[in-house]
Amino acid sequence: MRKKIVAGNWKMNKTYSEAVPLMYEIKDLLFKSSKSESVIKIIAPPYLYIHDFHETSKGLKNLFIGAQNCAYEESGAYTGEISASMIKSVGANYIIIGHSERRSYYKETHEDLKKKTDITLKHGLTPIFCIGETKEKRESNEHFNVVEAQITDSLFHLSAEEFKKIVLAYEPVWAIGTGLTASSAQAQEMHHFIRSLIEKKYGSGVSSDISILYGGSCNEKNAAELFACPDVDGGLIGGAALKAKEFVEIIHSFPK
Ligand code: PEP
Repeated sequence: MRKKIVAGNWKMNKTYSEAVPLMYEIKDLLFKSSKSESVIKIIAPPYLYIHDFHETSKGLKNLFIGAQNCAYEESGAYTGEISASMIKSVGANYIIIGHSERRSYYKETHEDLKKKTDITLKHGLTPIFCIGETKEKRESNEHFNVVEAQITDSLFHLSAEEFKKIVLAYEPVWAIGTGLTASSAQAQEMHHFIRSLIEKKYGSGVSSDISILYGGSCNEKNAAELFACPDVDGGLIGGAALKAKEFVEIIHSFPK
């Protein structure tokens, strides 16, 4: 079943003493809002806070914790890495994979992301798999090709059963953290394209069930217009996820 999802990616922000009150503030606001009950809400803090946040999230319907990355190896001598099984063991249910910052700063390849997706699924966690083109690729009209290659090369080896478990996030790189948002027409066009690719490969049952989130300067002012698009099932939120009120307003932005 296609779900409405809002996920907050906290990136490398907030010390522990700043993070804990923010998490409580979000939880308190969500408690007061019956509107948000049916929306899947995910908070992806830095790894260090996952365990605590998981404890705090208990008792609130459809509130889950995610990680921002994972290693593609199972375990072993990989200094500084964090495995999917460790992430699971501290209570997370989701892992963001292929965020554009990981692709560009850490040179993560389609093959790396394929392995990260596999290991995430193997441990029963849900990948939130990010795709999206740079400004340069959009301007040269190659955005559909870029997104198609990202999906095909990292995800199309999966069986339909496996693919159904994934959440996709279309995040045009030029919109991330820049204050520039894709227009609702641009978002809908790309989301529709993604859904048709999935339909061609896995059939309409799978394509209509997959949740595709939009990310890129999504905030409490533009979320309603974006979430009203028929192929946009929610958002992956960066900056606005660090402000409790704004984040909860985004969660309230689905059409009635
Ligand atoms: C992100 O980093 O996934 C993101 C969408 O960031 P922002 O909302 O700040 O553009």
